[in-house]
Amino acid sequence: MNGLLRKALRLFRSASNTEQPVRRCEPQKARIIVLAPHMDDEVLGCGGTIARHVAAGADVKVVFLTDGRLGRAAGEDPAQIVTIRKAEAERAARVLGINQLFFLDAADGRLGSDTGVAGRLSEILERERPEIVYLPFFLERHPDHRAANDVLLSATRHSHMQFECRGYEVWSTTLANCLVAIDATLELKRQAVACYPSQLALTDYLHSSFGLNAWRAMGFGQGVRFAEAFHAAPLEEYKQLYAVFTDNKN
Ligand SMILES: [Zn+2]
Repeated sequence: MNGLLRKALRLFRSASNTEQPVRRCEPQKARIIVLAPHMDDEVLGCGGTIARHVAAGADVKVVFLTDGRLGRAAGEDPAQIVTIRKAEAERAARVLGINQLFFLDAADGRLGSDTGVAGRLSEILERERPEIVYLPFFLERHPDHRAANDVLLSATRHSHMQFECRGYEVWSTTLANCLVAIDATLELKRQAVACYPSQLALTDYLHSSFGLNAWRAMGFGQGVRFAEAFHAAPLEEYKQLYAVFTDNKN
């Protein structure tokens, strides 16, 4: 049997043993860090939720892990696209009410082999003391998105930090146990996605993201049209679940 499939099946078995039922999450005022492998993941994965946190008075900061140099059309200059994507991220942050952006500048597509980024993230986490950290869930099929989980684990390995992890979905669905209704902030999310014309020229991310958000609203029944989904767990529990996935023993 395919090794990845075997791991996924084992993970589903583990999650169904321990997982709480899917619940509605109400974004609250809190110190929040969003980990985004690339400029636009923060908007596609949790843009509506970020705007709701901000409306509740939260302090939201985003850490971009890579420089995004691969998000370009053939023939485009890598250095130029990095500058463009960072400027787009600044504009999207203003739309959503994000307080601060950090750019850690690992090489796009090679986050898993970057040895310095975890240390830089650790410094940020120690200083900012987040209560919630959003990151791409580790079942994401993009290698940088999966690697974001390794970076977070490395960054917290020798610390006593405690926060809730919320794994969001961009390229693959998460094991959802927390749904956030985003009807009230959908227009802000649309505007924030529109701040990324360099990426929209490659793929209609708005169409795909809103399609996923529409499907996720099914968990609410009547009255909610769009929702974002997360796997929410305290850091230690999230680490245990990830260990089930990464364990190579069959
Ligand atoms: Zn990405």
